[in-house]
Amino acid sequence: MDIMKKVPVREQEPAVRARNFEEVCLGYDKEEAMAEASRCLSCKNAKCIEGCPVSINIPGFIAELKEGNVEGAYEVLSRSTALPAVCGRVCPQESQCEGKCIRGIKGEPVSIGKLERFTADAAREAGITPKGADSNNGKKVAIIGSGPAGLTCAGELAKLGYEVKIFEALHEAGGVLTYGIPEFRLPKEKVVRKEIENVKALGVRIETDCVVGKSVTIDDLLTKEGFDAVFVGSGAGLPRFMGIPGEQANGVFSANEYLTRSNLMKAFRPDSRTPIMVGKKTVVVGGGNVAMDAARTALRLGSEVTIVYRRSEAELPARAEEVHHAKEEGIRFDLLTNPVEIHENEEGWVTGITCIRMELGEPDASGRRRPVEIPGSEFTIEADTVIMALGTSPNPLIASTTGGLDTDRHGCIMAKEENGETTKQAVYAGGDAVTGAATVILAMGAGKSAARGIHEFLSGKA
Ligand SMILES: Cc1cc2nc3c(=O)[nH]c(=O)nc-3n(C[C@H](O)[C@H](O)[C@H](O)COP(=O)(O)OP(=O)(O)OC[C@H]3O[C@@H](n4cnc5c(N)ncnc54)[C@H](O)[C@@H]3O)c2cc1C
Ligand code: SF4
Repeated sequence: MDIMKKVPVREQEPAVRARNFEEVCLGYDKEEAMAEASRCLSCKNAKCIEGCPVSINIPGFIAELKEGNVEGAYEVLSRSTALPAVCGRVCPQESQCEGKCIRGIKGEPVSIGKLERFTADAAREAGITPKGADSNNGKKVAIIGSGPAGLTCAGELAKLGYEVKIFEALHEAGGVLTYGIPEFRLPKEKVVRKEIENVKALGVRIETDCVVGKSVTIDDLLTKEGFDAVFVGSGAGLPRFMGIPGEQANGVFSANEYLTRSNLMKAFRPDSRTPIMVGKKTVVVGGGNVAMDAARTALRLGSEVTIVYRRSEAELPARAEEVHHAKEEGIRFDLLTNPVEIHENEEGWVTGITCIRMELGEPDASGRRRPVEIPGSEFTIEADTVIMALGTSPNPLIASTTGGLDTDRHGCIMAKEENGETTKQAVYAGGDAVTGAATVILAMGAGKSAARGIHEFLSGKA
């Protein structure tokens, strides 16, 4: 074993996985996990912890794994995270814990994410679950949204003895973990549902099919329903479009709709009662994780897929691993290209998309070089499906039905980073509803900070 390199992880072959919805990465077995754990230097000043938004004791759980003690490793993990099997799969470790790992200075960093995933999976298979509070403190907290922010806030408060109830608009809990991130990256039954069950085992109740702002308002929850505080973790599920001609044609989807149909409504199964239109040629517009997920889903459904992105490869916002996987599976990338018009036939169905070539100019406000059109370089790509993956913003429903809850000019709820406190008394918020579309672990970190803030408020320490 080369101690400078990660123990390689097994994956499905690209040609095979491009035709199925099974998980791409197969994870470590116990022997591989123990070998990888042995690469950790157990640093006294462990930089990896600084890179983790929920401050997992990384050397602590890895030390248990070195000894083959899965239960001990899981116990350390579950002190800081309610969703280790999720995070081990989807967190951008390369820019967080692994990006700071001391082992990474001279060689490859420790594969912290894969070890977290192994621990959580092995604990689940052994029937090990996290421990809840011994007694109830008599106070009630309502959580809006069952994504990673809401689940984390709920779990933390339940561990402190609060009676916690989550209100979720959809018929299934999990937020983007359930409706957005595809099965082949994050299995729903085996992983997401099981981790939600663990949160419920702490005493948290979940009411699905309840749209706060329509079925009930935040003011109702605080006055009529007897909740002492509310946490808003309603995410950023409102898709953006480009505003180009033809965007209303049949066959144009937001990535949100496309992925929800596939993941939540199971449109990828032949017996699904809510099928999705599968085109022969699909163009996905955008370069983030959502674009990669939409493209790889369309490919698995049987379409040829091209990703159109206006900057170059170096600026692609998606995780390098996702881009690599997408390319291996046969997705075409048309970079430095921007759509200008979608064409439709007489029945209103998409027939193609005209794009223009771009070049990179000076850096813009984001620090990335600004893409500039090359005049006269327009060309048309034949397509019957176009998926727009251009980012999302928070749905205005909650803010518009809650007096005193301020939002910024992007529609994001204004809340303090350190404790989630909003402009309305007893109402806290965190995750994508506050930051706009971000990451699972940042949403979890915000849920955790807000739980601390709510606890201080309700115990009279705020
Ligand atoms: C396709 C896709 C792929 C992604 N890939 C990654 C990745 O690989 N790694 C990563 O770290 N991040 C990824 N992200 C981002 C990540 O999933 C989000 O940042 C994260 O889920 C935000 O968590 P949240 O709890 O704030 O909101 P969400 O997960 O959006 O959950 C919000 C929940 O609130 C519910 N809700 C909304 N309004 C109401 C209401 N009025 N009443 C009741 N309930 C309501 C919603 O139905 C939803 O269930 C991805 C996002 C998408 C869309
Ligand atoms: S920084 Fe790397 S080597 Fe050091 S404790 Fe963390 S994971 Fe182990």
